[in-house]
Amino acid sequence: MIGPIFGSVVRMRVSTGKATQSDGRMFTVVVEGFGVGPQRRAERRLTVPFGQLQPLMQTIARKGGRIRMVSADEIPTTGSGAPAPEGGASADAPATRAPAASKAPVSHADVPVNLYKPKDPFIGTVTGNYSLLQDGAIGRVNHITFDLSGGNLHYVEGQSIGIIPDGEDANGKPHKLRLYSIASTRHGDNCEGTTVSLCVRQLQYEKDGVTINGVCSTFLCDIEPGAKVKITGPVGKEMLLPPEEDANIIMLATGTGIAPMRAYLRRMFEPAEREKNPEYQFRGKAWLFMGVPKTANLLYEDDFQRYLSKYPDHFRYTKAISREQQNPSGGRMYIQDRVTEHADEIFSLIEDPKTHVYMCGLRGMEPGIDEAMTTAAAAKGLDWSELRPQLKKADRWHVETY
Ligand SMILES: Cc1cc2nc3c(=O)[nH]c(=O)nc-3n(C[C@H](O)[C@H](O)[C@H](O)COP(=O)(O)OP(=O)(O)OC[C@H]3O[C@@H](n4cnc5c(N)ncnc54)[C@H](O)[C@@H]3O)c2cc1C
Repeated sequence: MIGPIFGSVVRMRVSTGKATQSDGRMFTVVVEGFGVGPQRRAERRLTVPFGQLQPLMQTIARKGGRIRMVSADEIPTTGSGAPAPEGGASADAPATRAPAASKAPVSHADVPVNLYKPKDPFIGTVTGNYSLLQDGAIGRVNHITFDLSGGNLHYVEGQSIGIIPDGEDANGKPHKLRLYSIASTRHGDNCEGTTVSLCVRQLQYEKDGVTINGVCSTFLCDIEPGAKVKITGPVGKEMLLPPEEDANIIMLATGTGIAPMRAYLRRMFEPAEREKNPEYQFRGKAWLFMGVPKTANLLYEDDFQRYLSKYPDHFRYTKAISREQQNPSGGRMYIQDRVTEHADEIFSLIEDPKTHVYMCGLRGMEPGIDEAMTTAAAAKGLDWSELRPQLKKADRWHVETY
């Protein structure tokens, strides 16, 4: 059961350690692109007893069908429009097998890549550069926008661009490019389709008592409007949003890992964006988990609060503020603690083939999340080490850490 904030939609578990062959319920699978001739073009509803559910889903996946929904009927019925599962597959499929193997349709077609290469970069003009942090925050994080007019640099949500900072490295060679996740939608912050925005944290660390500033992140955080910047790309197909308006999107972000999520959330909920996208009127569930050290470090908070008040049934926002909140063991509250706290709901969502999970931020976040998912999966009788590759294969587990 999904939490109340997501409304009253009931999703039944289709593959948990608790479901057994003696489960008397009938399950309805809504599928597209499955069958022959005209059947293949139409959406079909196939109702099967639990024992045939797993083999049916495997058959659908093998034949390239797209599962739109799986639900359990409240009252067992005897009708079945389902084709007999192939290969004598039986109901004793491993309990760890989740419906992740059914390939969710993620369109990678028409995604632009490498329109501008390092040898011949696009020269963008900075139109804005402002701090995203509040007083008392740790570090420096800026939102920086570039005008792309006059070129052919376009992108979609979830991609990155390369920035080549001015100047030379220690060997007198031009600096190499650094990648940054795009924080704007394809229409740009002004919705005119001529800009791209980034969310950049200045890298700063101490070495032998000296403060070292990262080359490119400092270049970007210091840059003035009007400056010209060498831009490459776009690159990346790992973090693309599925085109389905009713997909569920779980987002796990730390720090500047919010950049692609900000683009997704704008595409989903920003009024001007929704006007621009008649073909994408998001009506699924979007759940953002955001990890920062202090409240003052929360990024794009006002926008997210706006989306929360306008779309409470579609957007959920859970924060882990490590230096201000405590986890149940009395330690700092990290994003993985929030994942553990909401494990049941997260896994109920993941069992729905329409659910995608996105993780972005510093590489160090991965082991913690992995551990939390392992514990959470085990509580549901699932094995995360088996489930994760299935989700990955089904294009439903998206990770970009750096
Ligand atoms: C796909 C992708 C997306 C990214 N998206 C973003 C984004 O949205 N926002 C963002 O801010 N960044 C993002 N990054 C990171 C970004 O590309 C740069 O790596 C980052 O800005 C640092 O670059 P720099 O030139 O400032 O640092 P550099 O001058 O290149 O210094 C980095 C080097 O400093 C050293 N170093 C770093 N920390 C320490 C330490 N504590 N002690 C000792 N040595 C250290 C390491 O050798 C490291 O390689 C992304 C990276 C990737 C791969």
